[in-house]
Amino acid sequence: MSAVFRGSGGEPASESVGRLLDEIDELVEESMRGGEPRTGYNFGDPSYPPCPNPHCTEPWHGLAVTARMAFMRDYSGLDPDYDYDTDDSPVLCAGSARAGGWQPAPEDVIEAWRAAQLATFSEWTEPEVPAPETPVARAEKLWTALARPAVLIVVVSWLIALVSMLLPPAQWRWLTIGVGIMAPMWFGWLYARAETILPAGYARRRLRARPTALAAAALMIVVGWIPAHWGRSAPADAGDVRAGYFALLVACAVACLGHAVVQVGRVRLRASAEQEEFDAAEHGESLYLRGFGWMLFVLPITLLFGWIVGYFAFQPAAMWAAVALVTVIVATFFLEAAVVKIVTKAHDSVDIPMIVFFTIGIGALLVWSVLRLAAAPLRL
Ligand SMILES: [Zn+2]
Repeated sequence: MSAVFRGSGGEPASESVGRLLDEIDELVEESMRGGEPRTGYNFGDPSYPPCPNPHCTEPWHGLAVTARMAFMRDYSGLDPDYDYDTDDSPVLCAGSARAGGWQPAPEDVIEAWRAAQLATFSEWTEPEVPAPETPVARAEKLWTALARPAVLIVVVSWLIALVSMLLPPAQWRWLTIGVGIMAPMWFGWLYARAETILPAGYARRRLRARPTALAAAALMIVVGWIPAHWGRSAPADAGDVRAGYFALLVACAVACLGHAVVQVGRVRLRASAEQEEFDAAEHGESLYLRGFGWMLFVLPITLLFGWIVGYFAFQPAAMWAAVALVTVIVATFFLEAAVVKIVTKAHDSVDIPMIVFFTIGIGALLVWSVLRLAAAPLRL
């Protein structure tokens, strides 16, 4: 072993080892003159020294930086198969400790390498071209949008009914304007956006072919103002307050009728223009599921809220108005689903009995809540 440590001049091993260590020390000291912090590099640390190599923009780095490393950082993310030892891409910087004695790869070589990578890389990440919208989906979008004001009118009325549990009628009567503006606002928004969410001229053409749907939309705009009309004068007695709740209920019921005209009307055209734009089974099922969703989520929330708040509410009976409003829209969806399923014969043996069963239950709840509301001692 001692031969290894014997210098060429024949000096003793210990002396030669000592000189070697000194030389290493000197090298390290020189290369670290810029100063590598003891704590290592934290991303974005401004006090961390930059790489001393003039064409290098990296912070101080010990390892050589290659074009592939830069590419992974800038574009592709870390390649799990990446192996530093076999990385043969152009070297951008040989390392901060190697100030001299190496030449960076020529700029055009690096550029060519990067361009080649980028070309294959964008091949892997080519965004999937979205499938063109089917005629069925497009028709669904239009008619759902046209029927939506009914849902918005119910939602706002429902919120007003819940709020009215806590407020005197002289205050919440102003909120009824919210029911009126819902449909005009929605149609205004739809009119402005129709050309971006649907092909140009599509909505116009479809609506011209179905005047009943347009009439239903007009109906929704008009009936939304029934509650606001009631709210124009302050209620004078309990009967006036009750009339306010029934104004909300009537507005929602008529708006839901408009909803049904739009949604069920699609069946009528099935044999003609809309034949290919209508999936009867899916349409009936989606209406049924929407009704079910309201029954399963909104109805329990209303009952629970009404029951809890009822203990300290100003107007506990107002919860029956909210319940009645929810039952109106649930019944609407169920009846629409039943009509679509029966007319198109797109149903199986349990569909119709199920819908009938739920509709009877919901209808009973509607009658019950209207009776409760009619008999309740309402406060001014
Ligand atoms: Zn560098």
